[in-house]
Amino acid sequence: MGREDGQHAVVIGASIAGMCAARVLSDHYAKVTVFERDDLPDQPANRSAVPQGRHVHLLMARGAAEFEGLFPGLLDDMVAAGVPVLENRPDCIHFGAAGHVLGTQATLRDEFTAYVPSRPHLEWQIRRRALAIPNVELVRRGIAQPRYDAAEERVTGVLLDADDASAIPADLVVDATGRGTRLPVWLEQWGFGRPTETTVDVGIGYATHQVHIPDGLIEEKVVVAGASHDQPLGLGMLFYEDGNWGLTTYGTAKVPPPQNFSEMCALADQLLPAHISAAVRKGEPIGDVAFHKYPTSRWRRYDKMDRFPTGIIPFGDAVVSFNPTFGQGMTMSSIQAGNLREVLRSGDPDIAGKLSQATAKTTWPVWMMTAIGDLSLHNATGEAQWWYRPVGDLFDQFLGAAETDPVLAEWFLRRFSLLDSLWMVPSASLIGRTIRHNARLWWTEKRAASRSRRDRDRVPSR
Ligand SMILES: Cc1cc2nc3c(=O)[nH]c(=O)nc-3n(C[C@H](O)[C@H](O)[C@H](O)COP(=O)(O)OP(=O)(O)OC[C@H]3O[C@@H](n4cnc5c(N)ncnc54)[C@H](O)[C@@H]3O)c2cc1C
Repeated sequence: MGREDGQHAVVIGASIAGMCAARVLSDHYAKVTVFERDDLPDQPANRSAVPQGRHVHLLMARGAAEFEGLFPGLLDDMVAAGVPVLENRPDCIHFGAAGHVLGTQATLRDEFTAYVPSRPHLEWQIRRRALAIPNVELVRRGIAQPRYDAAEERVTGVLLDADDASAIPADLVVDATGRGTRLPVWLEQWGFGRPTETTVDVGIGYATHQVHIPDGLIEEKVVVAGASHDQPLGLGMLFYEDGNWGLTTYGTAKVPPPQNFSEMCALADQLLPAHISAAVRKGEPIGDVAFHKYPTSRWRRYDKMDRFPTGIIPFGDAVVSFNPTFGQGMTMSSIQAGNLREVLRSGDPDIAGKLSQATAKTTWPVWMMTAIGDLSLHNATGEAQWWYRPVGDLFDQFLGAAETDPVLAEWFLRRFSLLDSLWMVPSASLIGRTIRHNARLWWTEKRAASRSRRDRDRVPSR
């Protein structure tokens, strides 16, 4: 028997994931109420409950497309508000990954459009569109916990305070409270046990400054110099709609990031082309440095639980929180929203079960890519399979070739942006191309070295 659409859905948490969930639910429930404990500004602004918002947030091209699908017109509105766009312009991006630089003139030849909103701007654009939906209502109030009916093994709403008098009944509750979710604790209290967790200890420390850089000094809009095995510090710079740059520096594997603007400039000197680091030095830092610690990437395996109550679904970072230096969290929330839409459209009554399976399927390839990157290239610790290191080494070879082969670079940048497929697995022909390319480079370097040795030997001695 299929599931009838419901009367009332409740979403806990009005951040990116919660708003995407509300959008999808509004097509299937007569009323959707979103509860948020934090103040929600009516313009783009940082929020205290989302401290990560002060650090640069890459919006993947796939995420932009998914958000546009959920909220048609969003991208045009962002552009009208001054959000920079990267469009088929190789000079828009400097992209360094694991010690290799891909954003050269040769790359990004084909269609590739990406948007660079600040995190507060994107969240505000999404929020105002979600809250404009007639059957979506926002209540500025924290939720104490879901209301659980033990006899039915079902969540039947939420409790605003600890007592039942504060209950708000609902057919479905969405937990979009972020990586600090208490759902595992509640599941244990209700007798279901906690989900197992897959984790990678990445030991990331972020330090971010907003910087005003005089016009005309940098053509690029996105500058990324990712950490590598030998360089535990990384850097990301995004040019935002307000005309300022977000300059985020970070350390991996518990190496502390730069502590002030002058240390950030010194790191920029090390990691970036001279014209960009010189521009950073000419920049004027605004406000204070924001710091953030992100010790562990965490995937809560709800899909592996034997029993799960009906009436509640975990969503967004509450399910999986990826190493943020890969810039995938918001895009993966938008992909979860697509999964939720499919499950609700199917009419299957097992919403939680079907959604957790679908989300495991979309999470797996992306989690693998970041876990392999972290465990083999970023000195992280965690559950590594024996084959992570060889695959990481192969990728190092691939990225080395992609520095000078635009076809490989473009493939990598599109997959990294989660376009085309979530799997970062090159085809046999791309692997062959990588081997040939690197072999050619090796021969060229070897011939050049022996030529210069010959030339040196020919110099007559006095
Ligand atoms: C340092 C850092 C950098 C990042 N960089 C990127 C990036 O470059 N690109 C990218 O795509 N992603 C990035 N991410 C990830 C991104 O921030 C998240 O994936 C995204 O915000 C989606 O999270 P969410 O909506 O699930 O949870 P959150 O954004 O954490 O929001 C949870 C919401 O729930 C509310 N809430 C919690 N408890 C309650 C309660 N009991 N009652 C009511 N409300 C409640 C909170 O107030 C908050 O508003 C980064 C993360 C970090 C930590």
